[in-house]
Amino acid sequence: MPHFKLFVLPGDGIGPEVMAEVEKIAAWLTREGIVHFDIERGLVGGAAYDVHKTAISDADMARAQAADAVLLAAVGGPKWDAVPYEVRPEAGLLRLRKDMQLFANLRPAICYPALADASSLKRDLVDGLDLMIVRELTGGVYFGEPKQIIDLGNGQRRAIDTQVYDTYEIERIGRIAFELARKRRNKVTSSDKRNVMKSGVLWDDTIRALHAREYKDVELEHQLADALGMQLVRRPKQFDVIVTDNLFGDMLSDVASMLTGSLGMLPSASLGEKGAGSDTRKALYEPVHGSAPDIAGKGIANPIAMIGSFGMALRYSFNLSELADRVEKAISDVLGKGLRTVDIAGGAKETLSTSQMGDAILSALQAGV
Ligand code: NAD
Repeated sequence: MPHFKLFVLPGDGIGPEVMAEVEKIAAWLTREGIVHFDIERGLVGGAAYDVHKTAISDADMARAQAADAVLLAAVGGPKWDAVPYEVRPEAGLLRLRKDMQLFANLRPAICYPALADASSLKRDLVDGLDLMIVRELTGGVYFGEPKQIIDLGNGQRRAIDTQVYDTYEIERIGRIAFELARKRRNKVTSSDKRNVMKSGVLWDDTIRALHAREYKDVELEHQLADALGMQLVRRPKQFDVIVTDNLFGDMLSDVASMLTGSLGMLPSASLGEKGAGSDTRKALYEPVHGSAPDIAGKGIANPIAMIGSFGMALRYSFNLSELADRVEKAISDVLGKGLRTVDIAGGAKETLSTSQMGDAILSALQAGV
C-alpha cells in the first residue's frame, strides 16, 4: 500500500469546514488499505497569528517542507484586518509559496455537464470543458527590479515595474506544461506578447526550442495573450494546456475560472522543483476561493474545490491518477444526481450542508471503488 505524509493547513473561516470533508475521504482511503495517509495538522493565517503571532510558524514551515504534499484551505478574514502587515494572514500563504519555491501554478477549468447552465457562457460552449492553465508564479513583472515610484520633481511621479525572465524560468514552466499535456490531450498553447515585449520574444524562443529538443510528440501552438483572452470566451474547448507568464496567467486563469460557474468548485496546485534524487516535487494544493467570512460557521460552504484540490494531489504528487479520476467522477456523479450546496443551487429546492455534500461524494467514491 502506498504511504504518504500529508500536511494539512485548514486556516481560517470556512477553511476548517471544507478541510474536514477531505479528511473524511483520506481517513476512509487509509482504513480501506487503498492509500495510507499520515496526516499532520498545522496552523496558517489568522489561526496561526492567534496562537504564534505570526502567519505561519517556523515549525509548521519545516513540516510543510518535509511533507509529500501540503493541503491548504483558506486564510484571512475581518478579525485580522488590523494585524501588522508582515504577519497578516496572506503572509503565511506567500511564505509557503516562496520557501517551497513553488514556481508553477496549475488551475484547471472543468465544466461539469450538470453545472453547464451556471456558466455565463452558453451551454454548448462550456459543456464538457476541461482545460488547464499553467501560470509561472515566482518571476515576471510582480517580482522584477526596479519596482518603484519616483518623484520627478515637476509635479509628476513615475511608476516602474520590470518584466524580467531568464531562460531557465521559462524552460522549467514549459516542461511542466509539456509533461501535463502528455497525460491529457497532448496539446500546449503558449501565450505571451512577443509582438510588443522582449520578454515575450524570449518566452516564445525558449518554448519553441524546448519543444523541438524534448517534446516534438506534443502539439505546440502560439497565441498572443490578448487574442487568447478573446478565444477563451469565444471557443474555450479548443484548449488543452495553456502556459503563460505570471501577469497574463493571473488574468487568464481568472477568466477561465468563470467559465465553470462557482468559486466553490475550483481547485488549484502549485508545484516546485523535484528534490535531489527524488521523483516528487514540493507541492501545495488549495482551492481558489478564500475564507468566505460571510458564510463561515454556517456549515453551508461547498467542499468541492477543496476535495478537487485533494484529487489534484492524488494525481500530481502521489501518481495515483486512477484514484484521482474516481474522485472527479464521484463529484460529477453527485452533481449529476442534482445534489447541490447553496452556492450552486440554481433552481434546486433543497440544498446540502458542507458535511452532507462531503458524505455524498464519499458514498459515490465508495460505490465506484
Ligand atoms: P472569498 O472567495 O472568500 O468569497 C467570495 C464569495 O464567494 C463569498 O460570497 C463567499 O461566500 C463565496 N464562496 C467562496 N468560497 C465558497 C465556497 N467554498 N462555498 C460557497 N461559497 C463560497 O473571497 P473574499 O470574500 O474576497 O475574501 C474573503 C477573505 O478570504 C479575505 O480575507 C481574503 O483576503 C481571503 N482570501 C484568501 C484566499 C486564499 O486563502 N487563497 C483567496 C482569496 C481571498
